[in-house]
Amino acid sequence: METKQNLVEKSSRRCSVKHTPICKFLGSDGCEKCSLYKGDVKETEKKKTGEIWEVTQSNLPWDVDNFHESETCLFCKKRPGNPKAVYGTVELAHPEPPYEKGMIFGLGKPQREEVGSLIPFPVAMCKDCKKRYDLVENLKFYSAFVGFLLGVLIVLLISKWEVIQYSPEYIPLVIVLFFMAVVYAIGGKVAEKLIKKYSDEMYFRLFQIPEMAEMEEMGWFVYREEKEKTRMIISKKKPREHFRYFSLDPRQPGDE
Ligand SMILES: [Zn+2]
Repeated sequence: METKQNLVEKSSRRCSVKHTPICKFLGSDGCEKCSLYKGDVKETEKKKTGEIWEVTQSNLPWDVDNFHESETCLFCKKRPGNPKAVYGTVELAHPEPPYEKGMIFGLGKPQREEVGSLIPFPVAMCKDCKKRYDLVENLKFYSAFVGFLLGVLIVLLISKWEVIQYSPEYIPLVIVLFFMAVVYAIGGKVAEKLIKKYSDEMYFRLFQIPEMAEMEEMGWFVYREEKEKTRMIISKKKPREHFRYFSLDPRQPGDE
């Protein structure tokens, strides 16, 4: 078992990336909450992560922290947007640094992967935009559920029919699945209509936000982007309390 003394020593002296940019990014809430520390990552791996992070950081605009530190919503079409209430966090990807995969025992050509960097990207959102986004997002789920209930109800209603009683056992299941699929498809159509209706007021895709133009130019894209709206996790908190791509901590690498 590790004593407290051991833990302190491990986090304060032995960590090879202390005070470097990766430390200030992943360890912004302290060593105990740092994924490099918690995951018991090898020192060489930490260094490698640090090198990757420096490339990632070099591909970010200097004012990138404005997207989460903004006091007003960036998904609102009007400027300034409504006051910030939550964060919509998107997975953003960049081709740098080059990441190669596909070599098996030194055979075959190494294939360049599309994604070299993958970062969480929290963006300020107001409660109205959250409400609209949630409604569209939940519609598909609810419609599958309603379709299921409807299917079961129909099966119960027709279960007395002679045709059903003499048909194969799987027929009730087919009926339920059929209604689920139909109502789910209708839900999808309604969601599309809602996105259209709300599009005067808000952006449903991250890169529709005009302030994102520079990020797009620098090569960033949404990881697994969807057709109508960007998939995001909406929460009251950022990934870390002191989350920042460019730390305000003035200490230099090597400082105690
Ligand atoms: Zn808004």
